[in-house]
Parts: sequence; structure tokens; C-alpha cells
Amino acid sequence: MADCIFCKIAAGEINARIVYEDPDTLAFLDLNPQAPTHALVIPRRHIPRLTAAADTDAELLGKLQLAAARTAKALKVDGAFRLVTNNGKAAGQSVDHLHYHLLGGRKLLWPPG
Ligand code: AMP
Repeated sequence: MADCIFCKIAAGEINARIVYEDPDTLAFLDLNPQAPTHALVIPRRHIPRLTAAADTDAELLGKLQLAAARTAKALKVDGAFRLVTNNGKAAGQSVDHLHYHLLGGRKLLWPPG
């Protein structure tokens, strides 16, 4: 997608601190971290949000979950972390490219608010 900032990161057109990548997904550090460890895990292919995913995206969504686990391991927070997606503006979504926030490195409260 031409105007999507995360597509541009995936294409290497905008710099990001990439902490994990494979042919279908990548993870990079969030610019405005909400925890000592805060990465964003995205599919390279543009999907606006989780509810926009189609049946044909099932394999990619599975790969995204595995990428998140590998990212947690790479960042040494695999013992305790939170994986969350904001789906829709009212849920806090500000970038319309599916992404999971991977948060760790501090005690995470529940409910998140
Ligand atoms: P959300 O509000 O759930 O859509 O999350 C979008 C996240 O993207 C926010 O936490 C932002 O801090 C983060 N963000 C926006 N632009 C960039 C960027 N260029 N590099 C890294 N993180 C970004």
C-alpha cells in the first residue's frame, strides 16, 4: 500500500530497528515504547487489521504468531510478555496495517484499560 508507513518499513524505505525478520513477517521496536521491551510484529503483506484478514490469510496469521514467539525469544522476554492487537480506532488502532504489540520487561497489569 503506497501510503502505509509499515509497508514502507517492510520494504526498507523507512528505517526501523528491526529485531526479527523472515520472508513473510518482521518485527521492529516501537518508536514510543510503553514498556522496557516494546516491539511491533507485522506481516509484510498489507492487511489493514485482524478483522480484514481472509480465510486465505490463515497460514500467514499462523506465521505471525510464530514470529511473535521468536521475537520474544530474540528480545529475551519469552518467559513473560503480552501480545495485543488494537483492532479499530476505538480500540486504539492508529496505523492501518495489522500489527501485534509485543510488550515485556515489566509487570503487566490486567485489565489493560
Ligand atoms: P496502534 O496505535 O495500535 O495502531 O499502534 C501503532 C504503533 O506504531 C504505536 O505504538 C506507534 O508508536 C508505532 N509507530 C508509529 N510509527 C512508527 C515507526 N515509524 N516506527 C516504529 N513504531 C512506530
